[in-house]
Amino acid sequence: MTTGYVIMSPDSAGRLRTLALSLGADYFGIADLAPAREAIRAQGGERVAQYPRSVVAGIRLQDSIVDLLPEKDRAGAILYRHAAYDVVNTALDQIALRIANLLQCEGYATFPVPSSERTSDEKIAGPFSQKLGAHMAGLGWIGKSCLLVTPDHGPRVRWVNVLTDAPLKPTGSPVKPRCGECTECVDICPVHAFTGRVFSPDEPREARFDAAACDRYYQQLGKEFGVDGVCGMCLWACPHGRKRGNEQRLDPHENSLKKYPQW
Ligand code: SF4
Ligand code: SF4
Repeated sequence: MTTGYVIMSPDSAGRLRTLALSLGADYFGIADLAPAREAIRAQGGERVAQYPRSVVAGIRLQDSIVDLLPEKDRAGAILYRHAAYDVVNTALDQIALRIANLLQCEGYATFPVPSSERTSDEKIAGPFSQKLGAHMAGLGWIGKSCLLVTPDHGPRVRWVNVLTDAPLKPTGSPVKPRCGECTECVDICPVHAFTGRVFSPDEPREARFDAAACDRYYQQLGKEFGVDGVCGMCLWACPHGRKRGNEQRLDPHENSLKKYPQW
């Protein structure tokens, strides 16, 4: 595999960013995964741990769709599943495919991580944590909810990663948790799935989150509504996502959205 942080060609990172944004990404980053290699191996094995870097893209969720979550009814669950899962995941998978194809054409190994596919029922997880990639790229911090919290839109963003050996320069480094004394996600969880512990790279997810309890609750809601279950109250509650007045637009020269100019 190629190693070293030499940009593969003068404009390669810029081309990847432009491609991602042109396909609808609101966030873009490049992560150095080396510091998290053991955690990555523990989750997905060597098939994913072999890649030293990741290209990360994120799409912001629609506030009107996220704000359906507290209503807890069948129609709201169907609408949320469609708009916040199915549509966004398809868009993220397309972004990942195009990024992976571009890198592969340049001769690099790539692994586009499916936007939302559980590959281990035992771990209740996919092959690679999308949130970890975004965290390592400097796009936000891991909150007490175990979600990736962006400074501008909280956890209301879905992510995709393309793992690669391309010698791309990282766009940032992990952001320290900024949850402070807040416990809104912890308090609102109906099954008390969070311990309230602040994220530490040295601790397994189990120290902070009972994924099985959350999973059982989804199944229970699914039976009640007769459709795939939706909860997401930890995502809805985060004050970093609920704040308003920060509507933003794409800036192709930055890693995330920039504020609209005053009209
Ligand atoms: S999705 Fe719901 S049940 Fe699962 S952790 Fe979040 S608040 Fe708790
Ligand atoms: S709700 Fe509060 S504690 Fe939970 S992730 Fe957001 S800021 Fe952190």
